[in-house]
Amino acid sequence: MKPVKAVKPPTSTTLRTVEELCDHALVPREWMPALAKVAARYAVAITPAIAGLIDPSDPHDPIAKQFVPDARELAARPQERGDPIGDDAFSPVEGVVHRYPDRVLLKLVNACAVYCRFCFRREMVGPGRGGLSARALAAALIAEGVPTPAGKEGWTAATVQRVKAKLAA
Ligand code: SF4
Repeated sequence: MKPVKAVKPPTSTTLRTVEELCDHALVPREWMPALAKVAARYAVAITPAIAGLIDPSDPHDPIAKQFVPDARELAARPQERGDPIGDDAFSPVEGVVHRYPDRVLLKLVNACAVYCRFCFRREMVGPGRGGLSARALAAALIAEGVPTPAGKEGWTAATVQRVKAKLAA
């Protein structure tokens, strides 16, 4: 098995822009214009731990392939779908994917720590895409028949806000 490379972390913060990737030698500066277009559509986040595992001198570094943007991400073939995992057909209300009878996916936040370049849900995650509002979350809980907390009148936006505040405390 190939040993994990012990490359010194080149950054102490998560890299989120193409310029930062250039500054840390993760992409050549001449790629900047093309990669800026990719980053405008699909979020980028390379944590210090991940950056530390990338060997910038290796053009085929497997960790870089997973997290560093590539201009080819914007090339779509006719047979590709905007919703590659097919969530939409199983989404009765915003934020819910109910594909199997005994489990439900509740998409509370549209953010991720790393933004893999192959992510099936990449069209909906990233900065500016927000998360479920209290009203939408209440609608999702009602649609899925989730029991309300004891003593509460039902899932309203106000009820959800109270539960969220309790969870955050
Ligand atoms: S949601 Fe999963 S696959 Fe998508 S970017 Fe985050 S970790 Fe990667």
